[in-house]
Amino acid sequence: MKTIYDVAIIGAGAAGLSLAGELDSSLKVLLIEKKRDPHKRIACAEWVPPMFPYKPVNATSAMVTSYAGITTTKDFKGKIIDRESWQKEMLESLKTTDVHLGEEVLRVEDDKVITNKETYKTSLIVGADGPLSILRKSFGLPLLPVLPAINARVKAKQAFESTFIYFMPEIEKGYGWYFPKGDFANVGVGTTGNLRVTLDYFLNFLISCGMIDSGSRDIAVGFIPLFNLSPKASDNVVLIGDAAGLTDPLTGAGIMQAVDSAGELAKIINSNQSVSEYARYIEKIYSSFLSRRHERRMILENKWPNIKQAVEESWISFSRA
Ligand SMILES: Cc1cc2nc3c(=O)[nH]c(=O)nc-3n(C[C@H](O)[C@H](O)[C@H](O)COP(=O)(O)OP(=O)(O)OC[C@H]3O[C@@H](n4cnc5c(N)ncnc54)[C@H](O)[C@@H]3O)c2cc1C
Repeated sequence: MKTIYDVAIIGAGAAGLSLAGELDSSLKVLLIEKKRDPHKRIACAEWVPPMFPYKPVNATSAMVTSYAGITTTKDFKGKIIDRESWQKEMLESLKTTDVHLGEEVLRVEDDKVITNKETYKTSLIVGADGPLSILRKSFGLPLLPVLPAINARVKAKQAFESTFIYFMPEIEKGYGWYFPKGDFANVGVGTTGNLRVTLDYFLNFLISCGMIDSGSRDIAVGFIPLFNLSPKASDNVVLIGDAAGLTDPLTGAGIMQAVDSAGELAKIINSNQSVSEYARYIEKIYSSFLSRRHERRMILENKWPNIKQAVEESWISFSRA
């Protein structure tokens, strides 16, 4: 058995890094991450709301939604960040945390974290291990239903200050996005259909519209959790970010919630309050919002393939949604 910690965080993604960065330096903190370079090749379109605490590469002021031959534009402020730089900076700024990269947590038992290299004892365990959380599995929490999604970083042919959302029959029960990022763009799909086939279709569509270059693409696949908010697994095990089921099941946005849940948990740990306070905060702030968004996601799925009705009754551009 290795060193005894106050807090062990599993996962150095948006949530885990944010938490590690905000914990009091007097605490003995362990951050375990299975990847060697977790900030590289993240599957993400990198859109965040305006108040997000990191510099933009591309500001966006509107969202253009295309569906069933109709195009609608709505004011919708936000920004596209460079997630690789953001996470790399957070990782490099951790001075007092024991950071173990390239080490995988296999399971958790009581106050022990068991990895492929060691067993650690800790007072508090935090699952920041994303949509396929091993912590949820260890504690028998319902596994998160997920929507597969794929993002390609491509060279842009035009500059935009809008995000573009496309609902099409070819992108089954989901949508395609084009988010401008300076000279580049994040282009992707979240769908119940075949990811690669759908992405190729969508890329060719954008090439034919003159929006992107046909050159090289940096492609990454991930999963969007659709439902099941679970901020706490036991008295000494809590979950943040995607692992807690905090991602918006309709839009797929989850970076802001990862940062917010981490910040709230840090405040509670630093002031020595019970983690039940954290669970109460999450339930209060997110429970009804996420269940409404999940209902809308179900409308989108259930009304498909009537895309006009499915989109107008569910998508965030429409006031009645
Ligand atoms: C294609 C795609 C596009 C998206 N676009 C957006 C967007 O534009 N805006 C937005 O807000 N959200 C977006 N999201 C969602 C967003 O990426 C997530 O909500 C966000 O990454 C959640 O952060 P997290 O730290 O909770 O999880 P992650 O970022 O998934 O981090 C989890 C970390 O845990 C590590 N890990 C997992 N298991 C273990 C283990 N057993 N042991 C050790 N380490 C482990 C992983 O390697 C990973 O580094 C998108 C998601 C996808 C898939």
